[in-house]
Amino acid sequence: MQDSDQQAEIRRALRGLCEEFPGEYWRTKDRERAYPGEFVDALTRAGYLAALIPEEFGGSGLSLDDACVIMEEIQAAGCNGAAAHAQMYVMNTLLRYGSEAQKQDYLPGIAAGKLRLQAFGVSEPTSGTDTLSLTTFARRDGDEYVITGQKIWTSRAEHSDLMLLLARTTPRDQVANKTDGLSIFLVDMRKLVGNGMTIKPIRTMMNHSTTEIFFDDMRIPATALVGEEGKGFRYILSGMNAERILIASECIGDAKWFIERATEYAGSREVFGNPIGKNQGVQFPIARCFAQMRAAELMVHHAAKTYDAGGNPGPEANMAKLLASEASWAAADMCVQTYGGFGFAEEYDVERKFREARLYTVAPISTNLILSYLAEHVLGLPRSY
Ligand SMILES: Cc1cc2nc3c(=O)[nH]c(=O)nc-3n(C[C@H](O)[C@H](O)[C@H](O)COP(=O)(O)OP(=O)(O)OC[C@H]3O[C@@H](n4cnc5c(N)ncnc54)[C@H](O)[C@@H]3O)c2cc1C
Repeated sequence: MQDSDQQAEIRRALRGLCEEFPGEYWRTKDRERAYPGEFVDALTRAGYLAALIPEEFGGSGLSLDDACVIMEEIQAAGCNGAAAHAQMYVMNTLLRYGSEAQKQDYLPGIAAGKLRLQAFGVSEPTSGTDTLSLTTFARRDGDEYVITGQKIWTSRAEHSDLMLLLARTTPRDQVANKTDGLSIFLVDMRKLVGNGMTIKPIRTMMNHSTTEIFFDDMRIPATALVGEEGKGFRYILSGMNAERILIASECIGDAKWFIERATEYAGSREVFGNPIGKNQGVQFPIARCFAQMRAAELMVHHAAKTYDAGGNPGPEANMAKLLASEASWAAADMCVQTYGGFGFAEEYDVERKFREARLYTVAPISTNLILSYLAEHVLGLPRSY
């Protein structure tokens, strides 16, 4: 797999940008559980977060495969793209299903860095992975929708102007097809906080700016509806495939970071008069992680290219996410083992990246649910739930 000239240039330029945000920057943010706003601003100014926005709206009109290179390179440099990745991963839903008016109204502002689209509200406390059982309800009232309910794990909501929200518009027992009755809204949150919307931060094991959001008769204009009412689940599945591919590319970046750090450390740390990396017991786990990462990387780019060709590659997107999240987690564990005691010391960044990498076998979709998707939809085994 070969980078295009453009991808090679993206990697070179991003490496320069990320050097301005070394480990100490991330350690401080992590310690304070503070949002890395300076980093996100730098990415925005350089145009990276507008990569997927078509040129006619002020973006760079890059492909999903190029966007994967951006997210991978951020992680491989030791930075944390989770502070800004939603703008990348929800973009395809808006591009594929948003109206011309929505694109005209919002995309130029997002591309110019004046508007942030960083929040994606799907998960709810009671529905969990079972998205079709979500209960947040949007009731049509004239030229508005009135929204009641609750979301959980809506990351970056406090640092975003816009949110892509999935809500029920027809009660579950009144739809013919169980995937109908959910709708997507592009919610402009700027005037809603304290006006029907309450955001509460959730403190987690890593610095992730995640929140829970309460909707209490929150009114939004009917023009916020994306596509057709009741078809939101179909739209979100397509968007989620893009999300899984992009998150998988972040996992590849993380795996590269762990492998590079472990290799350097194994080559320089001397115990018993030799570098520890001279022992095959230390070498082999690093080599194994490298092979695992490379295999996953091929699947990520295969999935991205298939998506770019106009398809909706559910199996490939899910396999990319499964393989890449397992590769990054294996590399994280290997890196701590290679560093020994120093793997636990803050100053080497290994423990921070270890905590950050842990998320991705759970979110945005857990390994079990991917395996069950593959078993049922690809292999034709009976549905288990
Ligand atoms: C830090 C963080 C950030 C997040 N950011 C966002 C965000 O921005 N927007 C958003 O909408 N969501 C977000 N999420 C939510 C995330 O997508 C969910 O946590 C994830 O999808 C798992 O859902 P759950 O936590 O409800 O787990 P549950 O559905 O309760 O599942 C718990 C465990 O049971 C397993 N399980 C459940 N059902 C089955 C089954 N049928 N067969 C086998 N195993 C099963 C799962 O695999 C999982 O391991 C975030 C989560 C975290 C932790």
